[in-house]
Amino acid sequence: MHNLIIIGGGPAGLTAGLYAGRAMLGPILLERLSPGGQVLTTNWVENYPGFPGGIGGFDLMDRMRSQAEEFGLKIVSTEVKTIVRESGHFSIQTDSQEFKARAVILAMGASPKKLNIPGEEPLTGRGVSYCATCDGFFYRDQEVAVIGGGDTAIEEALFLTRFCSKVHVIHRRDKLRAIKVLQERAFKEEKINFIWNTVPLEILGKDQVQGIILKDLREEREFELKIQGVFVFIGYAPNSAIVKDMLKLDEQGFIITDEEMRTSQEGMFAAGDVRAKSLRQISTAVGDGAIAANSALRYLEGY
Ligand code: NAP
Repeated sequence: MHNLIIIGGGPAGLTAGLYAGRAMLGPILLERLSPGGQVLTTNWVENYPGFPGGIGGFDLMDRMRSQAEEFGLKIVSTEVKTIVRESGHFSIQTDSQEFKARAVILAMGASPKKLNIPGEEPLTGRGVSYCATCDGFFYRDQEVAVIGGGDTAIEEALFLTRFCSKVHVIHRRDKLRAIKVLQERAFKEEKINFIWNTVPLEILGKDQVQGIILKDLREEREFELKIQGVFVFIGYAPNSAIVKDMLKLDEQGFIITDEEMRTSQEGMFAAGDVRAKSLRQISTAVGDGAIAANSALRYLEGY
């Protein structure tokens, strides 16, 4: 029986692991991919304190992982399938083994939302992408479309200008949601072309993306844009499916907690992007992780 299992290895999970390790809880972190979470898909992080000039997403997460491991966090590469509450503990079944723990921290993060339009699924990996850092390089001197108007869309559109000859940002309104500093940079960038009040209807191509059908919402007009890649950044959905029947979630599926990161299930805590909250950032995930580990410690010690 373990004291504490942490599910998910992004900034929230790794910080919980660091704090739980320092509290001598012998924490185990279960991660289906490599530790790092969504930050691994971010090329450059400019707003995590302590790194003037910024730091690479991979580098930052590598540092978080090794710092947590220094204090005894054990990371196991496995995917959690089910969690069941048994008398006084949780039983966690993964694709390879079963873990039993007295407390659990849920830090599964969130995944990119899909457009759910024709062509998206069959052309994913063939021109449709959800990660500019991963795939931008393949679009050297080509034209691509970025869908969305939030921080992610604008940050990634700017990143894509390093490779692409033209980046069309397609947004459903005439104002961006992204913060001002990103907006200003994007408006100055000659390679970025904004297409306002427009939504995608269909992605075209047989084996590779060749174009996209768009609809101008104001003029009620459909038109085709010839592009070789489509990058979709329309927000994130929580990875909360494994606990949907045992915890209180909000209407979008994010886990509801109190300020101490306690969920509706005693002994179960949530941290980071999977949690219902107003600001999803690396810095807020890190704060959640520290609080969740402290709350788990207090729970295990019977406070
Ligand atoms: P977001 O803020 O939810 O923005 C999603 C964008 O996609 C919005 O512009 C939205 O349009 C558009 N959209 C949503 N559904 C759509 C659909 N079906 N079709 C077309 N467009 C659609 O998501 P995000 O940009 O990924 O950001 C998520 C969180 O991470 C935010 O809190 C953000 O601040 C944070 N973040 C921060 C940084 C940073 O600090 N550097 C970087 C990345 C992300 P509307 O505007 O009309 O709703």
